[in-house]
Amino acid sequence: MDELFDLSKKVVVVSGGSRGIGLALAEAFALRGATVVITGRDAARLNEAAQKVAGVQTQVCDVTNADAVAASVKDLGQKFGRIDTWINCAGVNIRKPAVDFTADEFDAIISTNLRGAFLSAQAVGRLMIDQKGGSIINIDSLSSFSSLKHVTPYGMAKSGLSSMTRALATEWGRDGVRVNGIAPGFILTDLTRELWSDPNLQSWNRAVTPLGRMGAVEDLIGAAIFLASPASTYVTGQTLRVDGGISAGI
Ligand code: NDP
Repeated sequence: MDELFDLSKKVVVVSGGSRGIGLALAEAFALRGATVVITGRDAARLNEAAQKVAGVQTQVCDVTNADAVAASVKDLGQKFGRIDTWINCAGVNIRKPAVDFTADEFDAIISTNLRGAFLSAQAVGRLMIDQKGGSIINIDSLSSFSSLKHVTPYGMAKSGLSSMTRALATEWGRDGVRVNGIAPGFILTDLTRELWSDPNLQSWNRAVTPLGRMGAVEDLIGAAIFLASPASTYVTGQTLRVDGGISAGI
């Protein structure tokens, strides 16, 4: 195997790895020989995912619970002796006009997509600073830098995540800890299935995406492997847009 992309000795944790993008990334890392743990809120869903993907281990952790996040990182660090890559993938969304959001809905979105990612990065960052190296990958979004309809709190959370990527990369670079993001465009998952069930929206999507099709979870794998592997040793503080070119302009 090309050592630039060798992941065979890596310990990789994917928060929100029980389905969708997180599970696809977990499977890709496991296939390349990494030790992989997926986390999520639902034990049954995690077990179902682990049955589909050979070798993947599971841990229940709700990223909105600060104590649970700290305990999860501590436990995984002790179990494996190190964590090489942490992927912040846990995310939720609610779509409605900005005037209709309740305070609780706003809090739920920020709490998972932004606060949860920060708490996770903070806990794993301490561990990576101690072990003198590591790669954190934040699953960001096109809506971080391009305003999409009816997702104001989600876009705010993802913009915050982009800011966190730059800030932590700056703060931890000299400790050997790299922090980058991946900003997917429109990807078909449970999170977006209802939205994309409208054929008119699908046609619009194909029309505005330079590569002419909607994204699939597999489209994120290459970027994640790159950011976790020795191929990206001198890359930090960047958010890589994987969106079929949609952010380049229409
Ligand atoms: P899915 O709904 O398919 O998966 C979301 C994952 O997050 C699940 O594993 C879910 O597990 C987990 N999760 C949700 N809340 C929590 C929580 N509080 N604690 C721990 N885990 C949680 O969505 P996607 O795969 O589409 O999304 C993955 C990431 O990609 C998200 O951050 C999303 O914002 C981002 N993204 C997605 C895009 C898309 O078009 N699909 C586009 C851009 C970004 P469980 O519910 O079992 O806890």
